[in-house]
Amino acid sequence: MRIIIIGGGIIGASIAWRLARERAEVVVLERARLGQEASWAAAGLIAPQAEAQVAGVFFDLCLAARRVFDATVDRLAAEAGVDPEYDPHGILYIALDSAERAELQARARWHREAGAFVHELSGAEARKIEPAISAETLYALHLPDNRRVENRKLTQAYVAAALKAGAQFREGVRADSIVASGGRATGVGLHDGSTLGADLVIVAAGSWSHHVRGLEGDRVALHPVRGQMLCFETRPRILTPAVFSMRAYLVPRRDGRILAGSTMEEAGYNKSVTLAGIEKITRGALAMVPGLGELPFREAWAGLRPATKDLLPVIGHSPSVANVIWATGHYRSGILLSALTGEVIADLVAGRAPAIDLAPFSPARFAAQSS
Ligand SMILES: Cc1cc2nc3c(=O)[nH]c(=O)nc-3n(C[C@H](O)[C@H](O)[C@H](O)COP(=O)(O)OP(=O)(O)OC[C@H]3O[C@@H](n4cnc5c(N)ncnc54)[C@H](O)[C@@H]3O)c2cc1C
Repeated sequence: MRIIIIGGGIIGASIAWRLARERAEVVVLERARLGQEASWAAAGLIAPQAEAQVAGVFFDLCLAARRVFDATVDRLAAEAGVDPEYDPHGILYIALDSAERAELQARARWHREAGAFVHELSGAEARKIEPAISAETLYALHLPDNRRVENRKLTQAYVAAALKAGAQFREGVRADSIVASGGRATGVGLHDGSTLGADLVIVAAGSWSHHVRGLEGDRVALHPVRGQMLCFETRPRILTPAVFSMRAYLVPRRDGRILAGSTMEEAGYNKSVTLAGIEKITRGALAMVPGLGELPFREAWAGLRPATKDLLPVIGHSPSVANVIWATGHYRSGILLSALTGEVIADLVAGRAPAIDLAPFSPARFAAQSS
């Protein structure tokens, strides 16, 4: 079976690895260079609890995704020969005023109700875990099994492992359309007017997924949500866990960099870094860890999170073209969801029932809403 995957970000690469291991003939089409969009811009948090603002199906999916990630990462690193720097130091989520404390206390309750582990700390206890945090810290949640990776290396690891398993990656090839006959895809129409034949097509083109023509009947629409990120140098390191607050987050890297994020902006496909974005992140970061003010600034960038109208991912068969599968809309959590997405898409392709109920994430929900 020849499977074409449209999009060479972390989602396309993870799926390619899983399918190639199952001996499918896999071709990934990437219009530019592999892994240079959202998957490059991300912070690399594998953090279902730190990222969640409400309980529900998406929180449960993210908890499951962390378990799948834990069960996958060693094998991925070994097969790829690339270390994605999966870091065990957890996350400290700090409250700097009483409103933030009340919100975090409420979160601790529903995290526990959903079966997640959370440890509540006083400000003094939190400073024992990470002395660099502000003396104004009133309270904190310690989330020891929310973690981080170097997402650029993780994407490379999926690509390297997929290549070793036999997948092909074609850079500089844009997929323009699904070529179909009798309600089934027969191939993918490319930017140069040629068609590449396929038995199955997977759309994993991030914020651009709905630009691929031929699937309009599914009414899947993505919008990009810009996230800006700042990066500082530390020698020696000053943070051990990643540190979150409701104002910003700080993610240390093994090489001494600290990433500070982020913004959530509707700016179309514009990846500019703006003064307002820098100001917002800087203000939050300095309130959390005042010592950051002395660090040398290294660089800033922005990326586009692929978001759907309901902010849930789109994972499942196209309702309008039988042998097309959507794997997109991962919004703020595509790094966390990467291993799980690869696993469930491999299940769908093989005709196995995925271990996770995918109904809330079905592409059919959009066609149903608009009819
Ligand atoms: C600032 C920021 C911080 C983030 N932090 C985190 C985090 O800490 N943890 C987390 O889990 N998630 C995080 N995310 C979200 C995460 O980055 C995304 O959900 C994830 O990278 C999406 O992966 P993707 O492969 O779907 O999309 P992308 O990485 O955007 O890849 C899509 C690829 O498809 C290609 N493409 C598009 N159209 C076509 C076409 N027609 N033909 C061929 N190729 C095409 C593009 O060139 C691109 O390479 C963050 C995002 C941002 C912006």
